[in-house]
Amino acid sequence: MMPATATVYRSHLLDALPWVEYQFMPAGTPPPKEAAYGHQRHSATVLTSQQAFPAKNCQGDAVIASDSRPVAVYTADCLPILMVDRDQRRVAAAHGGLRGISAGIHINVMNKLCQLGAKRESLLLVIGPAIGPCCYELGQQMIAELQQQPVLVRLSPVLPWTTQQPHNPLARRPQASARQNGVWFNLPLLAQRMAESWGLPPANIEQLDICTYCTAEANASYRRNSHFGHGYQQRFSWIRQRD
Ligand SMILES: [Zn+2]
Repeated sequence: MMPATATVYRSHLLDALPWVEYQFMPAGTPPPKEAAYGHQRHSATVLTSQQAFPAKNCQGDAVIASDSRPVAVYTADCLPILMVDRDQRRVAAAHGGLRGISAGIHINVMNKLCQLGAKRESLLLVIGPAIGPCCYELGQQMIAELQQQPVLVRLSPVLPWTTQQPHNPLARRPQASARQNGVWFNLPLLAQRMAESWGLPPANIEQLDICTYCTAEANASYRRNSHFGHGYQQRFSWIRQRD
């Protein structure tokens, strides 16, 4: 059961579709029993819901639904991404950390949806609670490594990072403190820019802008747990086509 005080994260793009049901669940809440999801490995592998059920049956980091079974991903600081093809009423979920996003996991899902008949302008992409640039410090050398990624070649001059830690006005607890004289990286914005560069109209993309470290539930962040050792729990995000 979801605690009465749990924050409910809603997407205005998805709420506008009466045939879609979805949740970015509170950290630690189990997914629907019938949900299909992969054994996630920070890959760019996309599964069908048949392959991904029973859950964790197959390795893969995104699931495209073949029917009304919910498709899910589990995350802590990584991006939970829910996607929809409005025309064909198809839904998908993707898990994207730094490795998966820079390998193009969400781009792979959109390409597959297009192979199944979707048009780019009919797709929607929603990025749920994930670590924000306010709390996500990377070593400087990581930027050079990212610039070598084939998928990122066109974006490498505009990779979203700053040397000054951004202030998050929505923070409900202290932001991460600098630990490695690194850079502050905006992974949700990288995912968005990749999608735009692929051809998804900007109006079809929504960021919930909830940072798992400083804004979401206290047990939602893997990185915050690595700093304070108080434990963390995974968040399941799922989406399905209503029967
Ligand atoms: Zn934050």
